[in-house]
Amino acid sequence: MNFNFNNSYRFLSTDFYELTELNSVKEPEVLLVNKELSTELELDAEALQHAAAELSGSTKIPHSEPIAQAYAGHQFGHFTMLGDGRALLLGEHMTNDGQRFDIQLKGSGRTAFSRMGDGRAPLGPMLREYIISEAMHALHIPTTRSLAVTATGETVQRERALPGAVLTRVAKSHIRVGTFEYAARINKVKELADYTIHRHYTELKNSQTPYIDFLKAVIDRQASLIAKWQCIGFIHGVMNTDNMAISGETIDYGPCAFMDTFDRATVFSSIDRQSRYAYYNQPGIGQWNLARFAECLLPLLDDETETAIAIAKDALTSYELLFDTYWLKGMAEKIGIHQPNEDDRELIGELLATMEDLELDFTQTFRKLSLKQPVDNALDDWKIRWQHRLTAEESPYELMTAVNPAVIPRNHLVEKSVNQLDLTDFKDLLKVVTDPYNDNHPAIYQTPAEESEQIFQTYCG
Ligand code: AMP
Ligand code: MG
Ligand code: MG
Repeated sequence: MNFNFNNSYRFLSTDFYELTELNSVKEPEVLLVNKELSTELELDAEALQHAAAELSGSTKIPHSEPIAQAYAGHQFGHFTMLGDGRALLLGEHMTNDGQRFDIQLKGSGRTAFSRMGDGRAPLGPMLREYIISEAMHALHIPTTRSLAVTATGETVQRERALPGAVLTRVAKSHIRVGTFEYAARINKVKELADYTIHRHYTELKNSQTPYIDFLKAVIDRQASLIAKWQCIGFIHGVMNTDNMAISGETIDYGPCAFMDTFDRATVFSSIDRQSRYAYYNQPGIGQWNLARFAECLLPLLDDETETAIAIAKDALTSYELLFDTYWLKGMAEKIGIHQPNEDDRELIGELLATMEDLELDFTQTFRKLSLKQPVDNALDDWKIRWQHRLTAEESPYELMTAVNPAVIPRNHLVEKSVNQLDLTDFKDLLKVVTDPYNDNHPAIYQTPAEESEQIFQTYCG
């Protein structure tokens, strides 16, 4: 295997990680290798296909230095010390043009941070992360990627015994808001901030106010990311601060799902009993998480605490404007408008309100509008105003077909395909959802679940 490891995280203070021994598994078998991603990473996909021992975490890859990363986080609003309890960072793979990618095994066994957990993952949730992260990538949404899934040949005990698996996850890094919360507890925020700026925000290296600009840049990337989720109908499900990546990538696909019927109150996660992470709450929770991040940075923002707080508040307030701007731009594009003005906000609002009243499918409605297909008579008045607005736009339908997917990984199909040992359905679905702007996929992939097929709850793995 031609990984080209260069492990910079190891040069941070040792408090940031635990060197970790590998745990071997009984009978590893590579089930899936992502060829397209292998090519992007300059990795030999054929070799990965034969690397079951390495990709299950049984055998060490040369020059990998397995570590479990330490972090903390607010889970459903409550602070907790955490860390990789079922994941190992093997190292950072470098491509020839100097890009750096974390290569992480998820489900590879216990670590110093496992607490009561078994360190393992069932196959279903690893397939779920694989397919949804790859669909997100195809939808142009920043995300961690999935390189491989390897069966362990062992069972994992949940409510029942399930087949175990290890996901090979690829990320710009696994530095989270929670990593900063951890750094704040050990008084090493400056060290982590310098490292992170160097790794992800190189444009700030000559700034006179690098930490203020860092805070603003992280806020900007999250505002942009969450606006993209809203525009596609994606519900993350566990927006705890340990699941918010400083790189601006979507991370940690647990009980996440795409909504079918447009309903702002949609929640899938079985453990989100108070709808904290409902669709309509995602933008606000993003800001709440960023406030936790800003708190960590306070000592770096100014020597005077009050000034530092004022700077942080200012940056957090700007999140609302940034989110709003990204959201308006994204939603306007969905109806063929390149440069939205304030009046367009009303046009979009009316469409969404009608969609919600009529319980229309989020994805199909926008795709049908893009293809000039009928949607629902109740939209006729709105359509007249919309058409009038579009006379000012050049090639609106080209824009719309480019941003409104024909297919998303519909939850009922995902759930079914990841919970069977035969991967035929899974591979078919994967092909479809990684080619999302194509109208020629079979109807079952394009249409929402029948009432009997609907799934309202998703679970953590
Ligand atoms: P998550 O809800 O997936 O973001 O995970 C929260 C924390 O629980 C992280 O620190 C995980 O490493 C840890 N965790 C989740 N599942 C397990 C498990 N099966 N064994 C050990 N730790 C786990
Ligand atoms: Mg997590
Ligand atoms: Mg998780």
